[in-house]
Formats: sequence, C-alpha cells, structure tokens
Amino acid sequence: MSRWSAGNPVTVREIWQGKVWTVRALTIVRDEPDLLALYQPAGAPWKRPRSLDGRLVRLPDQPWQLHDAALTEDALRLILPGQGHSVLLIWRQRWDLMCWYINLEEPFRRTPIGFDYMDQTLDIVVEPDLTSWRWKDEDEFEEALAKGVYSPEQMLEIRAEGERALAQLLAREPPFDERWEDWRPDPAWRRPEIGAGWQEGE
Ligand SMILES: [Mg+2]
Repeated sequence: MSRWSAGNPVTVREIWQGKVWTVRALTIVRDEPDLLALYQPAGAPWKRPRSLDGRLVRLPDQPWQLHDAALTEDALRLILPGQGHSVLLIWRQRWDLMCWYINLEEPFRRTPIGFDYMDQTLDIVVEPDLTSWRWKDEDEFEEALAKGVYSPEQMLEIRAEGERALAQLLAREPPFDERWEDWRPDPAWRRPEIGAGWQEGE
C-alpha cells in the first residue's frame, strides 16, 4: 500500500481477535520507511469500548460496544515500523509538555484507511526532561495475565520491549535525537474525522 502525505487524515484501529476495540482519527505527520509520525489533536473523535451495560472497559475479556468520545490532549505519536511500541509526546493546553509515553503494542499494520494494531496494556511514563520514569498500569497488566489476555511468555516479551524502548529514548537515539518537544502541527491542517469503512475487515 502506498504511503500517506503530511496532513492526510487516517483511521487507526485497535483490533482484538478480529473485532474493533477502538477507532481514532489521526493526522499523518510523516510516513517514511524508518518513521511513522501521527498527530492526535485535542478534540479529535475516537470510539472507545464499553460493556453492554455501559461501563468503561479496559480489557477485551468481555463483550463490548463502541461509544463516541473525544480525545482530550494533543499528542504526537512516533512509531518505528516493526517495533512493538510507540513513543508519544503528550501536551497539556498551550503546548506544555506533560510527558513522554511509551505505549507497548503490536507493530502497526497498514490498511486501506490507515493502520491497525492492538494495545498491550503496559506503558511507561517518562518525565518531560527524561530524568525519571515509571511503569504504568502494571496492576492491569497482571489482571490481563490472570484473565488469559496474554501468556506469561508474551508478558515477558512485552516488558523486555518496554526496557529496550526506554533505553533508546533515554539515550536519544534516532529518531529521538530530533527536538520533538518543539514540534507543532501545521495550522492549515483540519481536524481529522473517522473515515467511512472503519467497520470493514472485522
Ligand atoms: Mg497502552
């Protein structure tokens, strides 16, 4: 499939066992062989899973339905093709950098409308100046193991991927040698919408 251009809206889905778990509308920043960068503007629409009686659910261990919501923060998502994580920069209002965020996940797969992947629950939150960091959602990760969402071997691999990703970021290896903290979106870009066809290929 061909590459996208800066400013193109894409639909990014999380897919769990063939079923859509989330849908996000994001904007292409770069789509190059060694880096995929996506912009998630505050206010962009997304679809999030809720249980059939309407509670928010965080693990795909029960039936769910998707509800419309809006993303609350500006974020830039840096994806190294083939790797099992993304690195996000998340900003508060007025571009006040809140954190770097290592999101463990399946490698992104290209689709006709954007990309598919699945989150892997565990995350690492890194301070804006890269001086300290912490694992996030370890309890939920343990719960996922208990519920059979991941095998023990997968959990070890996910954690090891997190450690590799962290070392790469803290050393500011490429692409983190760029001043992504100073990145800003092109003001001409329009807010992305979730594309038609997001239910296809389930
Ligand atoms: Mg995550």
